[in-house]
Amino acid sequence: MNIITSIGEMQAYSDKMRKEGKTIAFVPTMGNLHDGHISLVRKAKKLGDIVVVSIFVNPTQFGPNEDYKSYPRTFEEDRKKLEKENTDIIFFPDAKEMYDKPKTYVYVEDYSRILCGKSRPTHFRGVTTVVSKLFNIIKPHIAVFGEKDAQQAFIIKKMVKDLNFDIKIETGEIKREPNGLALSSRNAYLTDEEHSKASLIYKSLREAENMIRRGEKNPENIVIFIKNFLNKNKVGKIDYVEIVNDDDFLPTESLTGNIRILVAVYVGKARLIDNIKVSV
Ligand code: AMP
Repeated sequence: MNIITSIGEMQAYSDKMRKEGKTIAFVPTMGNLHDGHISLVRKAKKLGDIVVVSIFVNPTQFGPNEDYKSYPRTFEEDRKKLEKENTDIIFFPDAKEMYDKPKTYVYVEDYSRILCGKSRPTHFRGVTTVVSKLFNIIKPHIAVFGEKDAQQAFIIKKMVKDLNFDIKIETGEIKREPNGLALSSRNAYLTDEEHSKASLIYKSLREAENMIRRGEKNPENIVIFIKNFLNKNKVGKIDYVEIVNDDDFLPTESLTGNIRILVAVYVGKARLIDNIKVSV
């Protein structure tokens, strides 16, 4: 496994691999790797000849009052985990390497303003900009994203389609703790009590899924149920509970087809997101 920190070196490596006819599969991360990230690396391993994992805590996707500074940085542990997975390359640039007084951004309209974009207005612009840059640097044939960040995966697919990136976007399912809590680097901010409260987020989604399977047809009733459940159990301050059609990410009037229920809750110092897909 090689660690590359320079953009030029990364591009030269990818050019060489492409010339040799190798398929490059790419997993972008912000590090502090857990089993969710690793599951994406394993998926990439199955899809490509060469696996590149980027570790970059991207400043442009954090708002001014968010956790950019305190975000967990654990490179040595991450390196060991990736070595064990036979990762080929870790791309590990610093912020100076990635951003030299930039004036250019990539922005997916409308979808960047809904759901997480309401409380994090510059977040997705930061994500789509850095992912575009990483695509131009790593030159992958395939890139793998987690369904944990379902809105992000949708926005990336839209960007790839709109800008004709010649890259196939794959997604990996959400990995969870035994109590149901979705694995996240931000879980490290939780106290023990907050941690067990946070597991009720997934419980509320599963209960909602059961209501739909038992015949509930009205999305509003599901939203009210989840909000009541989270409030009754004092899980935290709800940012949003919304239901979208999973095919176009627009609000759904009826609970049919592929729908996705998405939740964001502030639990202690952490802003946690989770979602569930239900096909009816
Ligand atoms: P992050 O390091 O948080 O930016 O995440 C990097 C990638 O890992 C993104 O595509 C996330 O959606 C994905 N990811 C994060 N948590 C999980 C999880 N619990 N299960 C599966 N994928 C995840």
